[in-house]
Amino acid sequence: MTDHTTDDPTRSGGCLCGRVRYHFTGDPLMVAACHCRHCQRQSGTAFSLVCVVTDDQYRQTGETRVFQDKGDSGAAVYRHFCAHCGSPILSVAGILPGLTIIKAGTLDDPSPWRPMAEAYCNTALPWLPVLAAERHPRSNIGQE
Ligand SMILES: [Zn+2]
Repeated sequence: MTDHTTDDPTRSGGCLCGRVRYHFTGDPLMVAACHCRHCQRQSGTAFSLVCVVTDDQYRQTGETRVFQDKGDSGAAVYRHFCAHCGSPILSVAGILPGLTIIKAGTLDDPSPWRPMAEAYCNTALPWLPVLAAERHPRSNIGQE
């Protein structure tokens, strides 16, 4: 089995138990904070920090379990978790074909990926500071 860890911890990540490992090549198309209620529930915290990459940029080892959620548009959102430890790894949105929405908190070193935009600010927790200059009340890119 290939361990999808590169020598770049800012582009490698995995779940809590280590059964799921992944990496991506190049730079994310978008880094965003998503404050939607679904991200709050599935993460158990204030928002999701996501790195959006193309499917071609992404490689993974280890099985994920998929929960089928539904986005605002009514299209399916497939939320992938480690089947063993439950860490959220990524989402695939029906309205964003070809894109992998990585839960950036699972990176080995997420520190450089500052959000460029915030989505679903209408449900952002009121005590959070502003994180990005570009702020959308809902979603401009359909991700959540
Ligand atoms: Zn795990």
